[in-house]
Amino acid sequence: MTEVARIALPVPLRRAFDYAVPQGIALPAPGARVRARFNNRTLVGVCVDRNPADAYADPKPLLDVLDAECAITRELFDLAHWLSGYYHHPLGEVFATMLPSAAMRGAAFTWNPEEIWRRTAAPLPPLERAPRQRALVAFLDERGGWATGADIRAGGFSSAMVAALEKKGAVVPGTRPFELEYPPELTAEQHAVVQCFREDSNGFAPTLVDGVTGSGKTEVYLQAMSDVLDRGRQVLVLVPEIALTPQTVDRFRRRYGEADVFHSGLTDRERLATWLKCRDGACRILIGTRSAVLTPFRRLGLIVVDEEHDASFKQHDGLRYSARDVAVKRARNLDIPLLLGSATPSLESLRNAGYGRYRHRRLLQRATGAAMPPIQVLDVRGHRLKDGLSEPLARRIGHHLGSGAQVLVFLNRRGYAPVYLCTNCGWQARCDACDARLTLHRVPAVLTCHHCGARAAIPAACPDCGTQDLLAVGTGTQRTEAGLRERFPEVPLFRIDRDTTRSQRRLEQQLGRIQRGGAAILVGTQMLAKGHHFPDVTLVAALNADAGFLSADFKAAERTAQLITQVAGRAGRAERPGEVWVQSLQPENPALKSLVQGGYAAFAAQELAIRERAGLPPARPMALIRAEAEDGAAALRFLDGVKPILPASLDVLGPAPAPMLRLANRYRYQLMLLAGRRRPLHEGLERLADIAAPHSVRWAIDVDPADVS
Ligand code: ADP
Ligand code: ZN
Ligand code: ZN
Repeated sequence: MTEVARIALPVPLRRAFDYAVPQGIALPAPGARVRARFNNRTLVGVCVDRNPADAYADPKPLLDVLDAECAITRELFDLAHWLSGYYHHPLGEVFATMLPSAAMRGAAFTWNPEEIWRRTAAPLPPLERAPRQRALVAFLDERGGWATGADIRAGGFSSAMVAALEKKGAVVPGTRPFELEYPPELTAEQHAVVQCFREDSNGFAPTLVDGVTGSGKTEVYLQAMSDVLDRGRQVLVLVPEIALTPQTVDRFRRRYGEADVFHSGLTDRERLATWLKCRDGACRILIGTRSAVLTPFRRLGLIVVDEEHDASFKQHDGLRYSARDVAVKRARNLDIPLLLGSATPSLESLRNAGYGRYRHRRLLQRATGAAMPPIQVLDVRGHRLKDGLSEPLARRIGHHLGSGAQVLVFLNRRGYAPVYLCTNCGWQARCDACDARLTLHRVPAVLTCHHCGARAAIPAACPDCGTQDLLAVGTGTQRTEAGLRERFPEVPLFRIDRDTTRSQRRLEQQLGRIQRGGAAILVGTQMLAKGHHFPDVTLVAALNADAGFLSADFKAAERTAQLITQVAGRAGRAERPGEVWVQSLQPENPALKSLVQGGYAAFAAQELAIRERAGLPPARPMALIRAEAEDGAAALRFLDGVKPILPASLDVLGPAPAPMLRLANRYRYQLMLLAGRRRPLHEGLERLADIAAPHSVRWAIDVDPADVS
């Protein structure tokens, strides 16, 4: 009898494939990686079943089994099946998303603990004849008595020198020392949250920590997790972005001595090593971005999702999962507590809290005692804007700079100007591949499409009429930077947007200089809104933030209110009080008004009522079926064909063109599905599992879409 293994392969087919296990190779365990031939390629897949009753009669042989046992934990193996079902994504591709890419290339599962060398307390041996070893001892002593192997080699010392010192008893291998920072005394509000967590968090217990910017949510996580760590359990902390806020990781390390990071900036080998360290239970704290939620843990005891509202937790292609929602699912499966934190919670989480599914804990005061700055609206109708700034705002900026403080100018558009046109004939610089204008950049000088990345040279004369009446209209960060430099030539200015932060080192340098204080101007996009603590910022000016309230996307108002609140939260975080001005051409906008008058909570209550009335998420679950093709008619025809397959119990809207119909030369259409409950929605989507689209049409199911664009 040949034995058969059923394998999930990383191919876009919603089924697994049977292979015969050749003599001499052990039958793989479920969850073990294997190598198999598929369509003339050798792929790494994951065994999902052994000798299934309905095995294929004449299977091809398996090439190789890579793991002696399940490569992931049983919990993650089950989670993969749930993800495949919930997001309607092929199981083999779910495993391929879960496993680090090195693992999917067949890398062996070994990892080395970080190499750390520490000085011993033993008396120093005579080293007169070994000046390099003496220098290495001095090197370690300067660093507080320890260093990583990498730092030692970067300092110009060899492994042989370390080995010699080890032999003489001057150094020993070790772990990072616990130079523990003493935790601050909690504020009464923080204390109440931590106390509740400690007393009442056995088993699945999600808590929404709804705390204003600067209320000390991170401190709450830090103290809440200490019991969990003491019990030898692991903690997973999900954050939207690590590169932007390196201080956060430092805080965990200062408190607990060690914390590992997991994000896209790591090399494949580093990712695999950290992943294995978690799986094997050697990592106590993992801080990571979206994909960290798919990491295996041996003894996970708590999940924290910081800034749980953040859109970066949702993946926009492939397995379109929400890391926040997967965190909730995992906490439930593992029966462990969960902390969801935000100053601007998502409407989903607020609604869950409202229904008692999550505990709702509020922090209304800043931890440092600083006052919350009120948001004020500056009506700029009828004002002439120069480089995006009205004159009253420019004067306020001058006033704050004059007192030695820092000013943060926020506008959510990079480049110099979003429109470049001919005032003689009306020509506009447009992208050939998208329904979009090209954005004018000055440094370097180029026209680029912010949607597909296309670039074009800036024409000297109008391509249509030949005149030189070309004009840049509208304002991006480069233009505001230029305007502010002209007006305040003496003041240091830092622009922070995707164009200036390509290098992590440069970003950290800039953030460091801002933190050192003194009058300065910060100009930037939403990158400036995220979690930064800039003690000297006293004025936050938002130039075009309220434009988002006009978008057709039903989630745009929520995102806009979150963005304004977050960026406002950078003001007045230390001794000096702050103020926030939002320039607006629509000061009567009801969303803006409720945000300004009642704060985010009032806005959210109003917005949630609108969604309830309209039957939109989170009141009803939604899925999109997205289709795109070079020939738009083919995409549309495909969706027209899908529509009758869906059960009548679903509300199906469309097919409709996506808000940006043409992107990168492809036309995009979508069907919007809404249902009273989740089950019929998923049953409806299940019917699409075996649908074959024409080769020219790419299509995807997007459950709980983050946007409808
Ligand atoms: P949030 O995450 O809510 O925006 P943070 O945790 O970053 O807030 O805290 C904001 C500031 O307050 C930080 O500088 C932090 O060190 C400080 N802080 C937090 N908790 C306390 C406390 N209990 N006592 C004194 N300072 C605190
Ligand atoms: Zn022209
Ligand atoms: Zn384009």
